[in-house]
Amino acid sequence: MRIPIREVSPESGRAEVAGWVHEVRDLGGLAFFLIRDRTGILQVTVPKKKVSEAVLSGMKEVSRESLVRVSGIVKAIDKAPGGRELIPDCFEILSRSGSPLPLDVSEKVPAELDTRLDSRFLDARRPRVTAVFQIRSMVMRTVNEFLFSRGFINITSPKIVAAATEGGTELFPIAYFEKEAFLNQSPQLYKQMMMAAGFEKVFEVGPIFRAEEHNTTKHLNEATSIDIEVSFTDHHGVMSLLEELVVHTYRDVGEHCQGALEALGIESLPTPKTPFPRLSYGEAIELAAGKTGESIQYGDDIGTAAEKAIGEHMGEHYFIVDWPTAIKPYYAMPYEQDPEISKAFDLMHPRMELSSGAQRVHDHDLLVQQIQSKGLNPENFEFYLEPFRYGMPPHAGWGLGAERLVMTMLSLGNIREAILFPRDRHRLTP
Ligand code: ATP
Ligand code: MN
Repeated sequence: MRIPIREVSPESGRAEVAGWVHEVRDLGGLAFFLIRDRTGILQVTVPKKKVSEAVLSGMKEVSRESLVRVSGIVKAIDKAPGGRELIPDCFEILSRSGSPLPLDVSEKVPAELDTRLDSRFLDARRPRVTAVFQIRSMVMRTVNEFLFSRGFINITSPKIVAAATEGGTELFPIAYFEKEAFLNQSPQLYKQMMMAAGFEKVFEVGPIFRAEEHNTTKHLNEATSIDIEVSFTDHHGVMSLLEELVVHTYRDVGEHCQGALEALGIESLPTPKTPFPRLSYGEAIELAAGKTGESIQYGDDIGTAAEKAIGEHMGEHYFIVDWPTAIKPYYAMPYEQDPEISKAFDLMHPRMELSSGAQRVHDHDLLVQQIQSKGLNPENFEFYLEPFRYGMPPHAGWGLGAERLVMTMLSLGNIREAILFPRDRHRLTP
């Protein structure tokens, strides 16, 4: 019976494993194979004089990254990975690998990100890449478990839509029979409509599509958004929830992904401290202006340079709150006392924005006004506006980028490393 390589130990006596040939060293009378599966690496030691003809002919033909099944006796040995080796009496090639390889899985020869992404299946055989996606998987598990434990209903909203969430140009048009349609840039309007349905707490983890032309290390054209919407609460309520969720993901990864963290050279993953500091937009731009020497006017967006300067100063997760209403979407709720400012927030990691959220406008007429003030036509939003005429509760929510969460957690240099098959300006395959 085949066992995972991690479980092979001298105590097991005999063992059978299946894995890819990671490395081959032939020293004449003695040959060493490193065999790898997703759980680890095992040294297979072949004393040529002592093994059968079948084993010898199998090992002679095998190329790196071929898939083999090996069984034999396990012995303790200090110098091998995991302190054990296997002396085979069976060495069978299950599937051959061609050569040369598109990239070196053992990482002796470094590869450019583009080359890696072109052969992602091979790249993902690398222990550190497997580790990233094991951790991403744990993050997603925590997100689901955390939100279910808080009474959320998981929803799935359409990705093919007729209208843009926020007007805007960041939309991919698609051919939909004789109509014009788009890939949805956010589940925003749909999760809000479910507040009118009385679902009270909803979440969705799904793709968002953004036709951003620029190629950056933190933007994808297809990203994964973790979205929530909650009734009978305000921006403070959903900010606390966001904080807690982030802390839970770090804690679970720290507790359950030690092997994967080790593969990435991360000795320990400190859990962020709560509450995250809150910086008002006004304070944020003042800080940025002081640090960068650039003049930033009240009402300007916080650009990449400013974001970086503030992040360096803060050195931990933080919120930017109290944004000018003019630069936040129409669905963000303005303060009753000062409608120039809205109950919107961004969650920031020192390196970049992770999430945007707000208490939402739930008053129909105010919403129509705000849509108009953004230069949009309320008629295009009729399906969204209708629920606001039939008992819409007050509500708040946010959207959190899954790739950015993983990227910042693991200090990855490029967001493309946090998604298996990235879609960007130039990449549509694999
Ligand atoms: P940015 O200003 O950094 O481009 P945004 O403010 O346009 O982001 P939002 O519309 O607020 O993004 O989306 C909520 C979250 O979804 C963002 O904070 C981010 O984590 C994630 N996100 C949005 N667009 C992208 C993208 N193109 N690639 C990866 N993640 C994204
Ligand atoms: Mn945002």
